[in-house]
Amino acid sequence: MNLLVTGGCGFIGSNFIRYMLETYNDLSIVNYDKLTYAGNPENLKDIEDCGRYTFVQGDICDFDLVSSVISKYNIDTIVHFAAESHVDRSIDGGYEFVKTNVLGTFTMLDAALKNGIKRFIHISTDEVYGSTPDKPFEEIDILNPSSPYSSSKAGSDLLALSFFTTHKLPVIVTRCTNNYGPYQYPEKLIPFFVSNLMEGKKVPVYGTGKNIRDWLYVIDHCRAIDFVLHNGIPGEIYNIGGGEEKTNLEITYKILELLGKDESMIEYVEDRKGHDFRYSLDFGKLRSMGWEPEYSFDDAIEETVNWYVENESWWRPLKERKA
Ligand code: NAD
Repeated sequence: MNLLVTGGCGFIGSNFIRYMLETYNDLSIVNYDKLTYAGNPENLKDIEDCGRYTFVQGDICDFDLVSSVISKYNIDTIVHFAAESHVDRSIDGGYEFVKTNVLGTFTMLDAALKNGIKRFIHISTDEVYGSTPDKPFEEIDILNPSSPYSSSKAGSDLLALSFFTTHKLPVIVTRCTNNYGPYQYPEKLIPFFVSNLMEGKKVPVYGTGKNIRDWLYVIDHCRAIDFVLHNGIPGEIYNIGGGEEKTNLEITYKILELLGKDESMIEYVEDRKGHDFRYSLDFGKLRSMGWEPEYSFDDAIEETVNWYVENESWWRPLKERKA
């Protein structure tokens, strides 16, 4: 398999590339990434000389470059992660989100179609369904996104499906819940809170802290994408969840406990605009095909927090650059 991964210098993409290279020895990967503030080549320093990995710096909105990379490296499969991914940034300014997530995904699909790609996995999110008042969302439920981020992801998700319906491009859409694990940019909740506490700073909790998310360890997500790549059916959507719904406060208390801090380090701040209350996915479809999460939240959160504690030299420059 000659795999093109977009956004492979980000959090999930870099974990996925490492996972795939370690799992298969008959596969080559081209990582196509623009290197925005969220893209960090350091995430893949350990595998960059492995001989089956190539990095190309480029924008997913650049049709000619994407097309020439597909043809030069004989790409047959695309896993498309590249996106603007931080909800708070989309509230401050959504332009880049629409450009990258909608136009960029369209460009990737168009280039895939014109170059006869055999499998295109589009990485979407549970946020496209919006907040659930009661039951977990299934793949057949309607999309009802709230933020400019989730709306731009919903747009790209529907475009991807339209390329299957209209052109029979073998597209599969996956919608996953909140990921956590190593190499996540320290603006996102878990690395932000861990690094703040290590710096002696408080952790800002939105509103009451009662909003609920389902948490998926990033390696379980990589396993699920790999599973879908090999067992998924073109034109289908697959929800990927961790089965670990927690309030933001539960996550906060867990981090405080693991770092030996107390609740005096919590600072309640004004709620995020349009803050969805609860995301929840029914991932029975994927379960019935044979995939399920392997990592428990209690084990994987401890491993994750330890990783940030031990890798201060990874997150500190990113936090300083952001400040
Ligand atoms: P991230 O922000 O860590 O990484 C995004 C990567 O995409 C970066 O390397 C960045 O440089 C690259 N990129 C951005 N714009 C680009 C462009 N125009 N051209 C080429 N590359 C570009 O994101 P992540 O958390 O790893 O998320 C990956 C994907 O998974 C996204 O599509 C996101 O919507 C989705 N997702 C993430 C989560 C989560 O919890 N992190 C949950 C659900 C879905």
